[in-house]
Amino acid sequence: MAGEILVIGGGIAGLTAAIEAAETGYDVILVEKNPYLGGRVSQLNKYFPKLCPPFCGLEIFFKRMKSTPKLKYFTNAEVLEIRGEEGNFNVKVKLKPRYVNENCTACGACREVCPVEAPDDYNFGLKTKKAIDIPSIMAMPFRYYIDDRYCNKCGECVSACKYNAINLEEEEKIIDLNVASIIVATGWKPYDATKLDNLGYGKFKNVITNMEMERLASLNGPTGGKIQTMDGRDIESIAFVQCAGSRDENHLPYCSAVCCLASLKQATYVREQYPDAKIYIFYIDIRAFGRYEDFFAKVKADENIELIKGKVAKVEEKDGKLVVTAEDTLTGEKEQREVDMVVLATGMQPAIEPIPGIEVDEYGFVKPKPGIIPAGVAAMPMDVASANESATGAALKAIQVARR
Ligand SMILES: Cc1cc2nc3c(=O)[nH]c(=O)nc-3n(C[C@H](O)[C@H](O)[C@H](O)COP(=O)(O)OP(=O)(O)OC[C@H]3O[C@@H](n4cnc5c(N)ncnc54)[C@H](O)[C@@H]3O)c2cc1C
Repeated sequence: MAGEILVIGGGIAGLTAAIEAAETGYDVILVEKNPYLGGRVSQLNKYFPKLCPPFCGLEIFFKRMKSTPKLKYFTNAEVLEIRGEEGNFNVKVKLKPRYVNENCTACGACREVCPVEAPDDYNFGLKTKKAIDIPSIMAMPFRYYIDDRYCNKCGECVSACKYNAINLEEEEKIIDLNVASIIVATGWKPYDATKLDNLGYGKFKNVITNMEMERLASLNGPTGGKIQTMDGRDIESIAFVQCAGSRDENHLPYCSAVCCLASLKQATYVREQYPDAKIYIFYIDIRAFGRYEDFFAKVKADENIELIKGKVAKVEEKDGKLVVTAEDTLTGEKEQREVDMVVLATGMQPAIEPIPGIEVDEYGFVKPKPGIIPAGVAAMPMDVASANESATGAALKAIQVARR
């Protein structure tokens, strides 16, 4: 298949780059490894600066895609290798079977009869899904898929489907693409919090990560949007632990740029549901760049939010509560707070797995080279607005190569 521009990754950066380039008249092919588009943003409850649900923004992108015939996309697709050079790249892409075709109306009859409960990655295992399921009520494409890591091929779903939409025999395909330029927008994954021994993740059930908090607060999440402890208690007090693994040479030496803002945002989620809850934010220094300073000032004005400047030394469990210990670097005092839940502000780590033809730096972020242009968090940690800008710039560079 010949295109002019290939975009790898269908998160906010990949979607932006693909749509911008296709709307100028270039043939664009987008490949996304998940069975849905939208990337990490689709997993957020709300996103700053406007604190609107992510689907407000994503829906506009999906609408633009539908009216752009120059843009073709594949989900469940992964790039295997890239050969050639600027202006003439040959790319091998693996299309993994979805087992559910376009006839699917998302009626859900298949899900009802599926006997297999499986961990739900989209919700970070906070709930289960069926082996045939849909990632979320806003998924694009809005179509079921079978997770073949768990499906036992019992065929119940095939019998239940009135639309002849399921084929358990569908096989993997390899396609060859020829493109002039490639935008790499493979984004990020959350840093593995089990590596942070002193912070209790995986040991104490009420220590969660910031992305788990996003799912917990989401209407389409595991609790229908109610923030509660893992044993179903209301929140009277909560601690956010900043730089959990970030700016630490033993973990992620860099700053992930958005974690302070994410915790400030999540403090507002808690406040909406619990007007009197005590909220503690332990930080090294708060990074609220540009106009986000106003947002920081607004959150800080809440008298039940206490900001403690100190790196958390440990999180322990005592009598059913969590105890967070840090040294306040302003006073030199040891500070301890007893809370119902701890949220670790874990950073963003590059998601890209090695692809022959793509080079990465010492942290795993994608390095630009002629004809290969990184965009969004694949290039460096950034928020959504910056990812959009970076992707628009990448689209322009990709177009320049395609025109030559
Ligand atoms: C807790 C938390 C809260 C946040 N809240 C906000 C907020 O409120 N506002 C804000 O502006 N920012 C927020 N951010 C940052 C925001 O999530 C990122 O800016 C955004 O996700 C960047 O989009 P992206 O497209 O670069 O990457 P991603 O969202 O990671 O998308 C990358 C896509 O590429 C796909 N992919 C990966 N590898 C491959 C491959 N090999 N082949 C094909 N596809 C691949 C992935 O499946 C994914 O769909 C938050 C971050 C965190 C950690």
